Amino acid sequence: MTATTTATATSTVPDVKPLQSKKKSTSSRPFTAAAPPPVDLEGKTVPFSQRWGFSSHVFTNDLIRSSVFDAVVIGSFVAFNASPYAIKTYAYLEENFTPFQINAYGTFAITTLLYWAFAGLFAFVDLTGRPRFLFKYKVQPFARVDARDYAKIAQVVIKNQLVVVLPLILAKGKIFPSAISPSKLQGPWETLGHIFFNVLCTEVGFYFIHKTFHSPALYATYHKQHHTLTAPVGLGATYCGVAEHLFSNLLPNAIGTTILQPHWSVALFTFCYLEIGTICAHSGYNFPYMHTSLRHDWHHFSFNENFGPTGLLDILFGTGKRYDQALADGMKRNGGDLDKAREDLLARLAVWEASTEKNDVVEESLDEEDVKKALLE
Ligand SMILES: [Zn+2]
Ligand SMILES: [Zn+2]
Repeated sequence: MTATTTATATSTVPDVKPLQSKKKSTSSRPFTAAAPPPVDLEGKTVPFSQRWGFSSHVFTNDLIRSSVFDAVVIGSFVAFNASPYAIKTYAYLEENFTPFQINAYGTFAITTLLYWAFAGLFAFVDLTGRPRFLFKYKVQPFARVDARDYAKIAQVVIKNQLVVVLPLILAKGKIFPSAISPSKLQGPWETLGHIFFNVLCTEVGFYFIHKTFHSPALYATYHKQHHTLTAPVGLGATYCGVAEHLFSNLLPNAIGTTILQPHWSVALFTFCYLEIGTICAHSGYNFPYMHTSLRHDWHHFSFNENFGPTGLLDILFGTGKRYDQALADGMKRNGGDLDKAREDLLARLAVWEASTEKNDVVEESLDEEDVKKALLE
């Protein structure tokens, strides 16, 4: 593939021609088909390597800013559990419901409603194009998921919630119900320790199981469906097969609480916290002060990097090197006339997305090999 001329003199990632569609419409087409090849305001094609992180605004949410969201969420929960309101709440639940009702129905209702409500916020922005100013935080602004594809994702999410999550929660509620009594509540530091341990277990479990799903023997059968979202959306965090949802998504999240057996509220919170984290990671937006989405968005864009949720093991095992390069490259595109031109184009794209043209896309079939070539040549 021949390199093309671009307006970005500072780019260190090689420029490439846009990939050509290999296949026409098939049932397995990727959701995030690009509009006929993306061009900048001068009419030049935007190279494939620069379609990720096109807007410099996505890089404003750095490590410190993105930690604010996590700190507020965790801090609010720990503060609530240390307050008299927590004692009243858990005493009320213990008095009025059975441990099974709380552990099974309560946990399922809360985690399911949270998933739809939180992912629904991102879906609203995606499908309406409003509020428009948020569009500049879109990590892959040229690849979008329309209402028809959102409906397909929703069906799979509902299936996974009913076929995988519900039976598991019912079984756990019956066999190993967590303690509800306020007398069994952990103190603030112990609660923080539980949350940290759960995050660590999820990092280790998800990294290795997810990486295993990327092996040639398993990828096509078990993980490819999730990767049809080359530019992910929040609702698509659990867009995957039953086996992947069970082993890759739920099992790592459950390791920590299974070992430590904390109070029901701590187990529920850590599950909700991890759920919010994965929805943010798939959201497609990297809003300032929110849980970052860049790492996992890059995984969907490039296929074979950034396997873990926090980046800890990716750094340790060197499975995020091209990501680091793309990140550095994207940040160099900040400021000046070029940035202004990009903002103008993003504003135009946002309007296009909200118009009736949004379904009129060229179907472009990108697989792992295409992307590898596009990024490396
Ligand atoms: Zn993957
Ligand atoms: Zn994913």
